[in-house]
Parts: sequence; C-alpha cells; structure tokens
Amino acid sequence: MTNQKMVIPDAKSGIPMAFPIAMPDSALFPLNGNLFPVKKLLKKLAPNANGARINALLDSMRASSPTRRPSDGEDHGSWNLHHPSALTMFEEFTAAAKGKQIVVFLDYDGTLSPIVEDPDRAFITSEMREAVRDVAKLFPSAIVSGRCRAKVYDFVKLSELYYAGSHGMDIKGPSKRHISQRKGNQTVLCQPARAFLPIIDEVYRALIEQVMHIPGAKVENNRFCLSVHYRCVEEKKWVELADQVKLVIKDYSQLRLNHGRKVFEIRPTIKWDKGNAVEFLLESLGYDESSDVLPIYIGDDRTDEDAFRVLRERDQGLGILVSKAPKETNASYTLQEPTEASSTQKQIVTN
Ligand SMILES: [Mg+2]
Repeated sequence: MTNQKMVIPDAKSGIPMAFPIAMPDSALFPLNGNLFPVKKLLKKLAPNANGARINALLDSMRASSPTRRPSDGEDHGSWNLHHPSALTMFEEFTAAAKGKQIVVFLDYDGTLSPIVEDPDRAFITSEMREAVRDVAKLFPSAIVSGRCRAKVYDFVKLSELYYAGSHGMDIKGPSKRHISQRKGNQTVLCQPARAFLPIIDEVYRALIEQVMHIPGAKVENNRFCLSVHYRCVEEKKWVELADQVKLVIKDYSQLRLNHGRKVFEIRPTIKWDKGNAVEFLLESLGYDESSDVLPIYIGDDRTDEDAFRVLRERDQGLGILVSKAPKETNASYTLQEPTEASSTQKQIVTN
C-alpha cells in the first residue's frame, strides 16, 4: 500500500487541504495508525455543519500528538515485524552500502531534537551535533525540515551540511570551504516558491492578528511556509483556533492547509515537498540515475512520508521513521526517539 498526497478543496470554504491517503484504499487516510474515511471527515469539517464536525476536527488534532498511547486495537508486534528497529539492522545496512555512496538526510524536530512545548527552544544536544558532524565528515548530509532554513541552521550550526528548509522549498548547499571536497554541483540554491513570498508575509501578519487572543497559540514564519502551533493551547480552544486559521486562508487559493504534530502548516500549492528536495539533492550530487548511491532518510512526521515514498519508488535507500506508536508509513525501519537517531548515526560512521 502506497501513501500519496491528495489536495482537495474544502467543501464549503474552497480552501485546498492536502491529506496523505493510503492507496489503493482511496477512501481511507492514516492518522497516527487510525484510519478515517476521507469523504466523511471532509463533510464533517465543512463550516456550519453540526457538532460532529467539531468532534471530527478534535479527533484529528488529538491524533497529531506524538505522545498519544496506541489503542488496544493497534498491533505493536505486527508493526515492529514489518518495520524493525534500525538499531538491529546494521549488518544488513552494511551489506546494502557496500560499494555505494551513502547520502544522509535528517529531519530536525522530533528526529534530531525532542518535540518541546516552545518551538523556539527545540535545541539539539551537543552529543547529537557531534554525531551529525561525524556523519557529515564521511558522507554528504542534509537537514530537511519544515522550519525556516536560517532557524534550523541556528540550531544545528554545522556549515558542512546541506539545509533544506520550508519543507524542502529553500535548499542551500554547504559553505564554500566545504565545496571542493565533494562530487557534483555543490553551489546549490533552490527556491521554487519564491513567487509566494509576498503572500506568505501577508498571511503571516493576518494570522498573528487573528489568533493572538488565543492563549498559547504561536505563529511561526518559516519564510516559504507558515506554522500555527497549538501544543500550548487548551483543548477547549482548538476548534476556535482551527476556525480562525481557515478564516484567514480561505481567500488564498494559492495556499493549502496541512496538519502536522500539533501544528497547522500553511504552504504554497506548488507540488514540491521533502521528497522533491531529496530528489533535487541527489541530482545535484550527481546521483540522479545512479545505482551506486544509498540514501538514508530519518524523520518522524507526515511530511517525511513524501521522502520515504521517493526512496520506495526509486527502490533505493533506507527510510527510517522515528515513532513510538504504530503508524501507516512508507519507511522500512523505525527508531523510538531522537536519542536512537544519534546512536544510528554513530553506527553509520563506525560501519
Ligand atoms: Mg519532524
């Protein structure tokens, strides 16, 4: 079963909303392992519908929590069987990497840093930074995040890396002093959503105005996309927050609304995601058509599924999902938490 992304206009508001859907069961989409009927949910999300809309919306927002305990119906054993821990697979990884160039892609929040209440304080540990630095000494390495590229760089502070911010819509290569050491076109700069900058800024200001009265709500400008965090908002205010966000963007057909881990993501409607960023970087490194490359991607969120899907479609590389709870995923392997991502990088270097 393959996850794909479908952009569907909201029934009443016309707001394009993107949902990851599991194919071929196109009537279903995954929310942290639970499957909800898309058409039914969209109907419930339509403005002015009855109280069921509110319940469906709350269910969706609750399901985005990384700390949610799996229900009794979710089968950990079966999930682990099909998505074994990456920490137990290093002999297989070493065999797969033989004679190939490893390229490492790392999500930031929830992968290199823990998920925290204040997104401005999602700091990377010095141990994790060292692990990333050691990997980057040996292999081309990239951070692929929904955050603003500059903000991710401020957290990581490693100039030898590629950085793909704004869900891959803002890609820049390593600093010049690292360029000559590597294969391929290293003077990378890719910003496919530049035309959307004025609209993004306009909507950012409108969102701040519209949600500032809701305690705990935080609007983050990621330059080519926006995030509205509700991790610190009381649950009784979630529906109001969601309605305010939808109200702001309803007149912007150029933008779409996605849902991440306790966050609404507002992005341009262009077809460009973390999967495109991975393909772009592999091409820039000279490995577009090559079979001599082993991309490794580690991530924790729905947006990382686009990258996992690309690896599956290329039939190349290792997708590793960071998650304690069973989820529908295109990744082949799993890790429980960011500290295990640090251990994995150390093993990649050792092997
Ligand atoms: Mg993440």
